Amino acid sequence: QAKRGGRNRFCFFDPLLQAKLHHRLRLEADLRHALSLGQFQPYFQPQVDSEGHILGAEVLLRWEHPERGMVSPAEFIPLAEENRQIIAIDRWVLETACRQLAAWAAQPETRELTLAVNLSVQHFHEADAVECIRDILVNTGAPPARLKLEVTEGFFLERQDEARQKMLALKALGVTFALDDFGTGFSSLSYLNRLPLDQLKIDQSFVRDVLEDPASASIVASTIGLAKSLDLEVIAEGVETTAQRDWLLSHGCRRFQGYLFGRPQPLGGFETSLRDARRALP
Ligand code: C2E
Ligand code: MG
Ligand code: MG
Ligand code: MG
Repeated sequence: QAKRGGRNRFCFFDPLLQAKLHHRLRLEADLRHALSLGQFQPYFQPQVDSEGHILGAEVLLRWEHPERGMVSPAEFIPLAEENRQIIAIDRWVLETACRQLAAWAAQPETRELTLAVNLSVQHFHEADAVECIRDILVNTGAPPARLKLEVTEGFFLERQDEARQKMLALKALGVTFALDDFGTGFSSLSYLNRLPLDQLKIDQSFVRDVLEDPASASIVASTIGLAKSLDLEVIAEGVETTAQRDWLLSHGCRRFQGYLFGRPQPLGGFETSLRDARRALP
């Protein structure tokens, strides 16, 4: 190689790279204490039916860093996945969600609400994943049928039989499964009828462009058709405009999640929207 030697070594002192690395290492170090310091907070984003009635929420994790403010899960989840902290984090989220489901189950107005929780592949591949989730359900008293676990295509790239067995064991308890970010992975579609899924979530990247981009529109339309023919529920995520909602409705999609219906927000805000929605009912 021609570019060897003295000059190239300057790369190691690239101030921008240095700063980025420093930032990342600090974030990683801080992340180790975030759980014990109580810096995580569950946010709730409504999922609605064709009339806009709230069916439940997806639980989305937020990290309130004392100096950096709110750190996006897009930034810290990958870090947590690399050093396996994600397992403890996921379990905390799951427990928090299940405690909430148990509280809602005690009130007639909130009894039917569901919560969707994102599961990481590392957590699911743990030998004790099923027992752990079962224990959380039992200890919190959450109705298992109200808990939806969101998995991604990456779950089934390897150890598919094991994943299937675990899903079946959890389904036997009443838990349901959604396939998140559908269409963004690289796996074949063959797992769709081998795995006990209940719902497909159309990825927001397709929903965003559904009115402008014919390719996105056909992907979304085919996904809705595929879900119908496989007898799966379908929900569109990232719905931001009424035009997108109307397009989806006219193509047979009856469940939505997105800024149009509500942003992810702390429990208090979510419960306020529930009350407001009930008051608005005829
Ligand atoms: P996801 O599960 O696909 O969640 C949907 C993401 O889309 C969320 O981003 C949500 O805030 C965002 N979103 C919802 N509606 C709209 C919309 O109308 N427009 C736009 N532009 N965005 C919308 P968020 O909260 O930043 O989460 C990012 C990802 O981090 C999630 O993607 C999920 O994969 C992961 N994540 C979040 N919480 C957890 C958790 O507790 N455990 C694990 N393992 N992963 C999590
Ligand atoms: Mg999700
Ligand atoms: Mg998604
Ligand atoms: Mg995602």
